[in-house]
Amino acid sequence: MELFSETVNQATSKAVIGDLTLRDLYRTNTDMVNGYLNWEGYKIVKSLHAQGFKGLLLPADGGPYDSRLLEGPLSYRHAAETAGLGIIGWHGLLITPEYGPRVRLACILTDTLFASSTPLNIASPCFKCSDNCIKICPVEAIGKPQVEEAYRLDKYACCSYYTASGMCAECLKACPAGKSSP
Ligand code: SF4
Ligand code: SF4
Repeated sequence: MELFSETVNQATSKAVIGDLTLRDLYRTNTDMVNGYLNWEGYKIVKSLHAQGFKGLLLPADGGPYDSRLLEGPLSYRHAAETAGLGIIGWHGLLITPEYGPRVRLACILTDTLFASSTPLNIASPCFKCSDNCIKICPVEAIGKPQVEEAYRLDKYACCSYYTASGMCAECLKACPAGKSSP
């Protein structure tokens, strides 16, 4: 589901008085989208049960995630890329054709059989970009990927900065992908 740009633009890691309350809009809007995604997932699982299938909802937020290792058992972004919803950009986020990286995801694991989709066959917007995310990251956590790398992210630097500042979405805001007027 889309995160609206007006909301994303309120997110800041370099908050001064006044920004602190404005940036809360990003958090509350994200919570709202997460809740909506979770509700849709809940209804899908109910529907799967009614048809005799299993469904394990992995929520948009608060899903299985080991904060010590900064990893979980399933990467939503990679699942989404495999399912053809988008491609992973140099900032390590899923880039969708419609909304760029301004999206939230939830997953359902199920034993239902359905027609599979295929990964998107589109050129990465990163090669036409001016390395916006690399330049704007306050802790230089994003690097240019090497051959056969999809992205190069120092997740510990990113996570440490995010935790210390209470929020960071600089790479998300700076990414021109999916914006009608970058
Ligand atoms: S900001 Fe540019 S280089 Fe970074 S992910 Fe977006 S399109 Fe790619
Ligand atoms: S969220 Fe912030 S710290 Fe993390 S990679 Fe993006 S710009 Fe860098």
